[in-house]
Amino acid sequence: MAEPVSIISYPDPRLKKVSAPITAFDADLRELAQQMFALMRLEKGVGLAAPQVARNIRMFVMNATGNPEDDRVYVNPELSEAEGEEEGEEGCLSIPELRVKIFRSRKLRIVAKDLEGKSIEESAEGYVARIWQHETDHLNGILLTDRMGPVAKIANRSLLKDLEERYKKQGKTT
Ligand SMILES: [Zn+2]
Repeated sequence: MAEPVSIISYPDPRLKKVSAPITAFDADLRELAQQMFALMRLEKGVGLAAPQVARNIRMFVMNATGNPEDDRVYVNPELSEAEGEEEGEEGCLSIPELRVKIFRSRKLRIVAKDLEGKSIEESAEGYVARIWQHETDHLNGILLTDRMGPVAKIANRSLLKDLEERYKKQGKTT
């Protein structure tokens, strides 16, 4: 049985690490994915990456529609063939309350593995492509705070400062 996991928040340094490729497609990995889906639904998110639950491995789960049949897991994802660019609002379960407009590629291709180690190759545009990019960023230690422009940084300065203070206090008790 895998250990229970919980979502970690900015500015936890584990969110800034480059995560390692997954080589073992075993029961622990499947259980971790199930736990991540449960947390994602609980927090009403559309995606969650393993580093957000303090596991620095290259996997994310997502569901762009809220329908259970649209649950997707991507292991060792690689994005390519990016086309176009568009701005859209994003949030992040590791940066509570932040909503910020981010430029992303409009369309791209993903090559990944599923939980059984089988190859996945898909193309998507718009919202799904945006989630792929946000979650793949997590696997590379990149957060919305690294993507947002100077105006958004100023606008959200106090929110980020509050999270930093909260993290410092937590550090003293755990
Ligand atoms: Zn995020």
